[in-house]
Amino acid sequence: MFENSLAQAFSSHFKRPPQFSVSAPGRVNLIGEHTDYNEGFVLPCALQYKTNVMAAKRSDSIINAFSLQYPEAIEHFDLSQPIEHGLYPWGDYLRGVVNELLKAEHVISGMDIVISSNVPQGSGLSSSAAFEVAIAGLFNEAFGLGLSGPQMARIGQLAENNFIDCQCGIMDQLISAEAQFHSALLIDCQDLSTRPVAIPDDLALLVINSNYPRKLADSEYNERRLACELAASTMGISSLRSATMTTLDAVKTQISDKVYRRAKHVVTENARVLKAADALQTGDLNTLYSIMHEAHLSLKHDFEITVPATDGLVDICMQALNNKGACRQTGGGFGGAVICLCAKEDVQTVIDAVEAKYYQQFSLHADILRCEPHRGLTVEALDKVA
Ligand code: ADP
Ligand code: MG
Repeated sequence: MFENSLAQAFSSHFKRPPQFSVSAPGRVNLIGEHTDYNEGFVLPCALQYKTNVMAAKRSDSIINAFSLQYPEAIEHFDLSQPIEHGLYPWGDYLRGVVNELLKAEHVISGMDIVISSNVPQGSGLSSSAAFEVAIAGLFNEAFGLGLSGPQMARIGQLAENNFIDCQCGIMDQLISAEAQFHSALLIDCQDLSTRPVAIPDDLALLVINSNYPRKLADSEYNERRLACELAASTMGISSLRSATMTTLDAVKTQISDKVYRRAKHVVTENARVLKAADALQTGDLNTLYSIMHEAHLSLKHDFEITVPATDGLVDICMQALNNKGACRQTGGGFGGAVICLCAKEDVQTVIDAVEAKYYQQFSLHADILRCEPHRGLTVEALDKVA
């Protein structure tokens, strides 16, 4: 249905049928916060929320594109000219990806493109990475670029870093490109190797957006990065990836208590991600739940990036579940969403508790999304199918 209406939108705008259909998902991170830029481990899961793109090649070097989410803001630019920022913020994600493909000297030419997505924007499910990976996947297919999933993910990350000026890691793009059915993906951010970890059928994933207005997130993010770098350099290592609690404790008197706790979060979080991946793999849900709870406490007390609203949501969910599930803040912090894992039969209990208590305590409405694990990037050449 979604695909049919996108094909119709393409045909009625461009007066010809699309040749390619591409889809890339948003994601939620199950565990592993602020470990990516410390070359550690993360365990994200791609979701049923996806960005779909349909397109057809042109015989010139022009890119025409529009998004059903921004129907008035039609993009138009020429690949034979330097790629600059456009009139519309959304179009810069497209321009950024194209720019990175050109910088890497890939041979590409013009395209007509339509985009539509049901990934909520700015809700922590990474609509921007889904968009970038879909566009990278489209050009890869249309021009036979031979890029691997990690290479397409890197193109998307570079677009955000260089064109959007968002210094994100590669997790969001990599899970969007590489996720497999019914699985989370354990990613080693040092060498980008991945291991799919199956998610049991009866495990429910709820993403609950606190809608707490995020403030100071950028400056606080930079402070955390610098603290991690300082702890690593004091230990004489290039990143916290190779630190252990023993090597960290050995420099405890040379760093402030704050820097110590920032590093402690990262060191212990890396260990938790590996344990959580094993617990998920073996279906040991009680262990998984207790590790997730520890992870939240580490974000709250050591990394100090939670806020009363997200701590409150975690408390409300944990109380409702009474040890039969887990909940923790997910994403960069200072607001955003929490992820709650529990048996499918307990989902309504959690929803009821959030609806009864969250607004009453924080005067904010929470958005509750029931999520399903889904596969990553899919690409179809429609004219080959016909
Ligand atoms: P998120 O956490 O959802 O990734 P970001 O601020 O990083 O939030 O990215 C959201 C931005 O990505 C939007 O403001 C828009 O510019 C772009 N974007 C995401 N999805 C679409 C879409 N379907 N069509 C056009 N632009 C999109
Ligand atoms: Mg984003």
